[in-house]
Amino acid sequence: MDQETFPKRLAVDCLWLRRTLDTKRTEDPFLMLCTHIVRDGHDCIGPFLENIETSCQLWEPNERLASQRSKVDKQSAPASETNTTST
Ligand code: SF4
Repeated sequence: MDQETFPKRLAVDCLWLRRTLDTKRTEDPFLMLCTHIVRDGHDCIGPFLENIETSCQLWEPNERLASQRSKVDKQSAPASETNTTST
């Protein structure tokens, strides 16, 4: 995986994003709502375009992305940092 671009700050991977449906909106029933305390209940600013990062300053990685980041960090850490053998 490309270290320089990982993780991309994609709106779809934001911890605060809540995806839901509003069946009253027949043309576009898919809602992308923000649950961050600052924007709670408002539409996520997105964008939701492939590989285009969000400019949102509130963005945080969701659980899935944080887990991926943790795995990459462990793989790239020097062996001395990952060796936790106690004496
Ligand atoms: S508006 Fe920002 S914080 Fe809220 S869901 Fe979208 S990217 Fe995340």
